[in-house]
Amino acid sequence: MTSSGVSTPQQFEQRILDIVKQYWGFDTFRPLQAEAIRAGLDQRDSLVVMPTGGGKSLCYQVPPVVADRIDIVISPLISLMKDQVDGLRSNGYPAAALHSGLTPEERTEVHDGIKHERYRLLFLSPERLITSGFMEVISHMNVQAFAIDEAHCISHWGHDFRPEYRQLATLKQRFPGASVHAFTATATPRVQRDIVEQLHLVDPNILVGIFDRPNLTYRILPRVDLHAQIIEIIRRHPREAVIVYCLTRKDTETVSSVLKANGIDAAHYHAGLTSEVRRKTQEAFSEERLDVVVATVAFGMGIDRSDVRCVIHAAMPKSIEHYQQETGRAGRDGLEAECVLLYSAADVMRWQRLIELSAAESGNPEESLAPQRELLKHINGLCTTLECRHQALTRYFGQEYQPPEPPEVMQSGKALDSELPGGSGGCRACDVCLDEVESMPDATMITRKIISCVARLKQGFGVGYLVQVLRGASTQQVRDWKHDDLSTYGLLREIPEKVLTNLVYQLVDQNLLARSGGDRPVVMLNEQSIAVMKGEREVKLIEPRTGPVQKTQPVVESWEGVDKGLFEHLRELRRAIAQERAVPAYVVFGDKTLRSMATIRPASIDSMMIVHGVGEKKLADLGQQFVEAIVDFCVEHDLSTDERDGAGPAGIVRPKPQKKTNPQRGMAFGMFARGASIRDVMEATGRAEVTVEGYLEQFIEERKPGDIAAWVDEATYPKVTAAIDEVGMEALRPIYLKLNEQVSYGEIRAVAAHLRVRREQE
Ligand code: ADP
Ligand code: ZN
Repeated sequence: MTSSGVSTPQQFEQRILDIVKQYWGFDTFRPLQAEAIRAGLDQRDSLVVMPTGGGKSLCYQVPPVVADRIDIVISPLISLMKDQVDGLRSNGYPAAALHSGLTPEERTEVHDGIKHERYRLLFLSPERLITSGFMEVISHMNVQAFAIDEAHCISHWGHDFRPEYRQLATLKQRFPGASVHAFTATATPRVQRDIVEQLHLVDPNILVGIFDRPNLTYRILPRVDLHAQIIEIIRRHPREAVIVYCLTRKDTETVSSVLKANGIDAAHYHAGLTSEVRRKTQEAFSEERLDVVVATVAFGMGIDRSDVRCVIHAAMPKSIEHYQQETGRAGRDGLEAECVLLYSAADVMRWQRLIELSAAESGNPEESLAPQRELLKHINGLCTTLECRHQALTRYFGQEYQPPEPPEVMQSGKALDSELPGGSGGCRACDVCLDEVESMPDATMITRKIISCVARLKQGFGVGYLVQVLRGASTQQVRDWKHDDLSTYGLLREIPEKVLTNLVYQLVDQNLLARSGGDRPVVMLNEQSIAVMKGEREVKLIEPRTGPVQKTQPVVESWEGVDKGLFEHLRELRRAIAQERAVPAYVVFGDKTLRSMATIRPASIDSMMIVHGVGEKKLADLGQQFVEAIVDFCVEHDLSTDERDGAGPAGIVRPKPQKKTNPQRGMAFGMFARGASIRDVMEATGRAEVTVEGYLEQFIEERKPGDIAAWVDEATYPKVTAAIDEVGMEALRPIYLKLNEQVSYGEIRAVAAHLRVRREQE
């Protein structure tokens, strides 16, 4: 089936959007989604490179529902598949996954579903697809399209080569009638070419998205005091989700216990823990019961918490791809987030050793060594150059960086721009452009002292010992070697040990000093060292500092107009629902949706419909509960509701002064005092029913009328009090259900309010 022909392109696009709205509640496409969906519908091979959070899944989820067919998605991780299938099903979308984690009954059910064409998407691991038995099943399914997720795994020039992906090369041959659509978040131009070749894509539509993530603020700082630095960064994010990545399992344990000792609720996570422990930590994090996870890279693939506000790297990752992917877990909701990498040149050497070791073990050193060294060189370059981080990252992925537009002129007419560090030229979201990176005063002089000490030590000692001598340490070793007699002994004693260590590593990085290989590397001189000593070149060093960075103006507005109290209130409700249903919190609603609710504050189902991320199914399922929570909160805190113009088209919220007084409420009170009905007040004030019901509730509590017969008839009143006696009045819904949904929420609230007043008076 092809996409065009039956209708005009506009009608067609509208039809797709209608479906997207219906299942997902989105009003517009993200960049490249429409093109990628079209390729899926036209069955033209494609390669879609879209940054993490860009919305790749929608691109392969939409075509099969539009074209009424079943597509196969190849995905490398079970947890990833499970989450997607859960998410899809909660939206009313028929999908299933076949993997080794299923019980025999579940497996039978899925096979049955395939036979009866119940699904639109079937998720498989590459190993499973390739089994001959399964190939047979597929050939009966008349599959017309395959989506390959994490397609970079097919290339050994990528950062996550998986041999089992190589087998996908035969797909085109075995299913010549089906199209193949490759998706990845990270692929340099070289890896892109490799994917196209390996999968034998035919005239593919190559769609490469914009890699920059303007909502992320990048900082790459010298690692001076790891624990203190991590604590300081986390304290900038109270009650927010933070992931700390460490290189080793042991590091995750140490860091997490240090955090706990400092009053930060954290858990560690690595592949060495039992699956039970790992699952519990993942769940606690997804359900927002846990905010800080200290993990190895094993943590992340299956994690779909979109409100991670900070990702910290305790050490340099082994490639820019890893860095991009791991930092990509921050701010997936598009709201501002911070990424901090704590760098030391020691990390590079550590990776070099590890790479060499694993290459030697693989038996095929040359194939894996060259690509890995290349990757390492690039990430080290990123860490040691003082170039805008956004620009450096973008260029690495083969694109040109477009700095953001200067901020809009504020209402006062004064441009915000002039107040920002870095001015309008930079990204306004990295330590370099924000002018946070300071250079060390007297760098050349300090460097000379260090180099001359290396010479006096006859190039025979490591970094640690060199620093001891320069700081004038009085240790047995120093005395034994008589190094306290050297002219350079204690020459830099005013520089703290950690700072001085970092400076030495910076010199190694800049190739102003050399370091031998082996198990006990020593610091050595090279030609550049001599040039510095001769005064032929100046040296620049970054001042390692641990102090707090200044609070900066985020590029992405996000809290403007949002009532934070209401947002927290809705988060509580979401947490409760998620726990009750045993699903991750984001499956209920994303943060962006909650923020939008806390801005617009919809007081009716109708107005809830305009909230970003609320589709039909969710509206029917959860709309009422959230409307009630919003109205209750707004009434209690005297907040206006139904601020329809609060949210801009991109979900970016314009500032809106919060109303402290509410004229509608005063009017309603006057009318109720004269016995007006809810309907009359709705008409007079233009407020939604639920809001007016809230006014009535408040009216009853404040003015304490003797009876409420004007709003609840005599027969209904005792029924409601009887129900309240049975189920209590902490929540309205149980009362509503107890009364067989026959009595309106408005009446229930009025009776409950009246009862509270009566009890108080007794
Ligand atoms: P990726 O796989 O590319 O990392 P996802 O497919 O997981 O990204 O999508 C990231 C987030 O963006 C999800 O929360 C998804 O619901 C949301 N999203 C996707 N497409 C749209 C859209 N057109 N409008 C609004 N939100 C979207
Ligand atoms: Zn920058």
